[in-house]
Amino acid sequence: MKKLVVITGSSSGIGEATAKRLSAAGHPLLLVARRVEKLQALNLPNCLCEKVDLTVHAELHAALSKAEALYGPTDLLINNAGMMLLGQVETQDISEFKTMFDINVIALLNGMQAVLAPMKERNTGTIINISSIAGRKTFGGHAAYCGTKFAVHAITENVREEVACSDVRVITIAPGAVETELLSHTTSDEIKAGYEEWKESMGNVLAPDDVARSIEFAYSQPQDVCIREIVIASTRQQ
Ligand code: NDP
Repeated sequence: MKKLVVITGSSSGIGEATAKRLSAAGHPLLLVARRVEKLQALNLPNCLCEKVDLTVHAELHAALSKAEALYGPTDLLINNAGMMLLGQVETQDISEFKTMFDINVIALLNGMQAVLAPMKERNTGTIINISSIAGRKTFGGHAAYCGTKFAVHAITENVREEVACSDVRVITIAPGAVETELLSHTTSDEIKAGYEEWKESMGNVLAPDDVARSIEFAYSQPQDVCIREIVIASTRQQ
């Protein structure tokens, strides 16, 4: 059997598409999210679905232990779960800043911490962190979200350098706009409408499977080849 892949936030969007793709490639999976019923509804073989709130850090550790007892050590962790709550810094509720930093940054660090030591010990393993083009350039109304994604870029590259000598790969994937549930959590109707208009002006955005394909591509390279970063967007996105 192929090696264990762990995907956070696989109940919708990019995580769900990646789960389907890597399952089709024969990998056993640990899928985690709060909406466990959506994970179970995917009905994938060799797949442990666990209800995990990633901001409660021990819940991920418990799920990993269960999955590794079934399928062996984690070979790939995809830190995909995230929230985008767009807003203007001067008016946005401070709880929204905390929600984004807790899931996009702290939970991602917790995931890395959970798997890094055993990967280093085994001299193999891959971590893929899903950042964003909003982690490379800024956009109006995105200040706090961009802050989290710039952090993801920095953390990923820093850890990549630290563990390179153990043959552990740490990879950033930075998508442009993708058609998912991500925008639905933004509370400002005005900002949501502006974002929808921007997407329509491009004609099309990526589908979740476009990003899943790039994840599979990066992972499927030989272990001594590390694609450090993939930036992927619809051709019309500027
Ligand atoms: P979705 O909203 O479809 O998916 C987000 C996932 O994160 C869901 O499965 C959700 O699961 C999970 N999640 C959120 N909070 C928690 C939590 N506290 N605990 C566990 N799981 C959580 O959006 P996308 O697929 O678009 O987003 C995936 C990643 O891609 C994010 O990091 C996002 O920032 C990034 N991205 C997306 C882009 C886009 O345009 N869509 C562009 C660039 C990057 P549940 O609610 O069930 O817990």
